[in-house]
Amino acid sequence: MEKFVLSLDEGTTSARAIIFDRESNVLGFGQYEFPQHYPKPGWVEHDPEEIWEAQMGAIKTAIEGAKIEPNQIAAIGVTNQRETAIVWDRSGKPLHNAIVWQCRRTAEMVEEIKRDYGSLIKEKTGLVPDAYFSASKLRWLLDNVPGLRERAEKGEVLFGTVDTFLIYRLTGEHITDYSNASRTMLFNIKKLEWDDELLELFKIPDGVLPEVRESSEVYGYTKKEILGEEIPVSGNAGDQQAALFGQAAFETGMVKATYGTGNFILANTGKMVRYSGNLLTTIAWGLKGRVTYALEGSIFVTGAAVQWLRDGIKIIKNAPETEELARKLASNEGVYFVPAFVGLGAPYWDQFARGLIMGITRSTGREHLARATLEAIAYLTRDVIEEMEALVGIRELRVDGGATANDFLMQFQADILNRRVVRPLVKETTALGAAYLAGLAVDYWEGLDEIKGLWKAERVFEPAMDEETRERLYRGWKEAVRRAMGWAKVAGS
Ligand code: ADP
Repeated sequence: MEKFVLSLDEGTTSARAIIFDRESNVLGFGQYEFPQHYPKPGWVEHDPEEIWEAQMGAIKTAIEGAKIEPNQIAAIGVTNQRETAIVWDRSGKPLHNAIVWQCRRTAEMVEEIKRDYGSLIKEKTGLVPDAYFSASKLRWLLDNVPGLRERAEKGEVLFGTVDTFLIYRLTGEHITDYSNASRTMLFNIKKLEWDDELLELFKIPDGVLPEVRESSEVYGYTKKEILGEEIPVSGNAGDQQAALFGQAAFETGMVKATYGTGNFILANTGKMVRYSGNLLTTIAWGLKGRVTYALEGSIFVTGAAVQWLRDGIKIIKNAPETEELARKLASNEGVYFVPAFVGLGAPYWDQFARGLIMGITRSTGREHLARATLEAIAYLTRDVIEEMEALVGIRELRVDGGATANDFLMQFQADILNRRVVRPLVKETTALGAAYLAGLAVDYWEGLDEIKGLWKAERVFEPAMDEETRERLYRGWKEAVRRAMGWAKVAGS
């Protein structure tokens, strides 16, 4: 009987499920959206029951689509939106809505902690203190949900990110993996344990925390009532780390960039914990007794700027049209767009930066704006990669995500980086990474060499720009960024 691996890819707006075969072909696919809840401005919640239902719906659709039986599933891997905090009781019942990574309700709490403990937190967790990570969200739940702290102290409350919640529901085991733990801001990434000092700082009773396991090992088996079979759940990683794994970026210096709403760039730094002032240090995965680290740069607005051209100022009908427009020009003609809609993330970290379009003349048209938007995505990516390069040698960039369909963008990225940009055949790298982790644990795949052999490029973009042009364009970009920074302070918005 032929066997397959089921990957659960639980994202911020939808849950997906994908069935892969041994050659990493996609056989079945299911995707269900779930509602976003905004109880107050800046607050974002998900209902864990709605996540669970969407995930189960996606699993059923994927299995039906693949025309297989549950007993043909060799293993299940999980990957998820990271940092989102959930609390539930031992029966699996959520005790509050999930507080989503985007939620800003604890920004003030973190600002205060950051003043005194910023460098300690960076040293222990690799993270720059921010409301983005789980620690302050869990503290908020314990402080604000009536009776929760008392129940937690009696051992009746379990905490976890979405991977942990799903795995608990599937198997009854309360676990997470190193990559997800490293995003809580409570986990010591060098000692590989929950950090007592940080637990104290955030007033977290340690009984609520999951056990931290490797990213590829059998955590438990699905309860019979779920799929009618006891299937090993044996892979787990946060979405960005899973994508790095799915790109077979197993060696130090291998980098992947995901081009979605924002861009997420991760560089494998091997067994070395490397710190950079403007990037996050994180755990990529734990595998066969070894932990691999990564540097991460997050850019908030990239594909979202393309959406703004379409839905905001309505100068394009769809995202692919940007390519056609950009190709109408031989150069940017001096027009730059810094899409700092919500400030700038890595490596600038300026929450007061605002968007800027400059170099406009009477002949500027929508093709200039389209081109400037695509170029901006590539410049922002170079900004992060330059920062990484100071710490680790980088040869090429492996890419995934919706905007990588844009060949103009990919070629410009190669040109502006002066490095090869490689687009893989299988685009579902996040789900694939979780599938690989799960499959490796049950010997569905033999090892990393076999997986390396499965990774195939669909297209390689070779750099073709002369150095003078490249550096002139990039200097223009840096100057445009400089002028966009701090603008909200000047304009008071
Ligand atoms: P996410 O997972 O963040 O929702 P996706 O990986 O689905 O993102 O990518 C969607 C994003 O990519 C959108 O912001 C969209 O504007 C952008 N995008 C999609 N296709 C193209 C294209 N051909 N050219 C430029 N941008 C694109």
